[in-house]
Amino acid sequence: MSIRTRTEAAVAKTVLPGATIGILGGGQLGRMMALEARAMGYRIAVLDPDGQCPTAQVADVAITAPYADLAAAERLAAAADVVTYEFENVDAEVTAALSASAYVPQGAELLYTTQHRVREKRALQAAGVPVAPYLEVTHLQSLRQAVKQLGYPAILKTARGGYDGKGQWRLAPDDDLGLLWSRVGEAQTAPGHRPAEPEWILEQFVPFVKELSVMVARSPRGEIAVYPVAENVHVNHILHVSIVPARIPDDVAQTAQTIARQIAESLQLVGVLGVEMFLTGDGEILVNELAPRPHNSGHYTQNACLTSQFEQHVRAICNLPLGDVRLWQPVVMVNILGQHLAPVLDKQTAWPSHWKLHLYGKAEARKNRKMGHINILCDDVETGLAEIRQVGIWQHERRI
Ligand code: AMP
Repeated sequence: MSIRTRTEAAVAKTVLPGATIGILGGGQLGRMMALEARAMGYRIAVLDPDGQCPTAQVADVAITAPYADLAAAERLAAAADVVTYEFENVDAEVTAALSASAYVPQGAELLYTTQHRVREKRALQAAGVPVAPYLEVTHLQSLRQAVKQLGYPAILKTARGGYDGKGQWRLAPDDDLGLLWSRVGEAQTAPGHRPAEPEWILEQFVPFVKELSVMVARSPRGEIAVYPVAENVHVNHILHVSIVPARIPDDVAQTAQTIARQIAESLQLVGVLGVEMFLTGDGEILVNELAPRPHNSGHYTQNACLTSQFEQHVRAICNLPLGDVRLWQPVVMVNILGQHLAPVLDKQTAWPSHWKLHLYGKAEARKNRKMGHINILCDDVETGLAEIRQVGIWQHERRI
């Protein structure tokens, strides 16, 4: 597949309020982007397979079609002055094709890169930022070789489609690699099929002390804004809380922000990007993953920063000056999953006003489905964390 470069795809234009922003993908990220954009005076068109999706509920125009439907994407583009995407699994080929006829300031290249771990790792190395040691894996023999080189424990990851810990296997010395590969490796590769790129990586296990993330924004005019560092705690591979400011030394925070800036420059980013990182016991930062869009760990910006990540994204793709990213107050963001929704709604009337609730308008509260989040503004993050523990809803998750 050939992806048009950003320079071919789009000559920067300034898109002013009154214009329509087309969003590929209609989940909660699109919804929060749309709500900010509407407050700024833009109109919203969205394409999503689900006509009742969170973004369609707040959009002016909703097109119901699969992400891979080019004709539908062209209808979206025809209704919009600028097109963006709200999650990275929208079809990179559709986005690339759309770039030919519509204004897609982000291009499709970053989407193409971040949809594939091998491409993403190569891009991070090209940006000169540290990543966990890894090797590309194409077949059982190369997996055995990689394990020999990297040692145990190690993590086998699929190149595509992994999220929330899916598509990952932690390997220990006792594991039967042949058996594992016959289950997960060969199962995903048709007999005789030789993929053009490695479809797996083996990564050294990083004994991190904290997981961090940094949201960074860049506009077509090259302006960059780097948000404060978030400290993230996951439960069952799903983000549970983001703590800001992260409880790390200032020099580590500065390094994390510098890395995010370096990535934004190297990738010639347009829009916002989430950079997920590991902090090791030696104070080293390794970049784990990129999300070329607003990110769950950036939701704290909605209430705690002068400019939210969603407003910033709109500013960036519309080529407006980027907003001030300063943090007004310490904040803890806690996710509301399906199993938390009923108790959250039950207790809501008793909450203090510094608990800021955001719900995504999803009808069905399935277990582990992200239904909303709360930004708890506090004098210090320990108080915010204590308030979460006290309310009892997340009591079984003793990770904070
Ligand atoms: P990922 O899908 O790569 O973001 O990984 C999901 C989660 O798995 C991360 O947030 C980490 O908690 C864990 N993880 C991923 N890669 C590694 C690694 N190399 N070492 C230790 N933990 C990891």
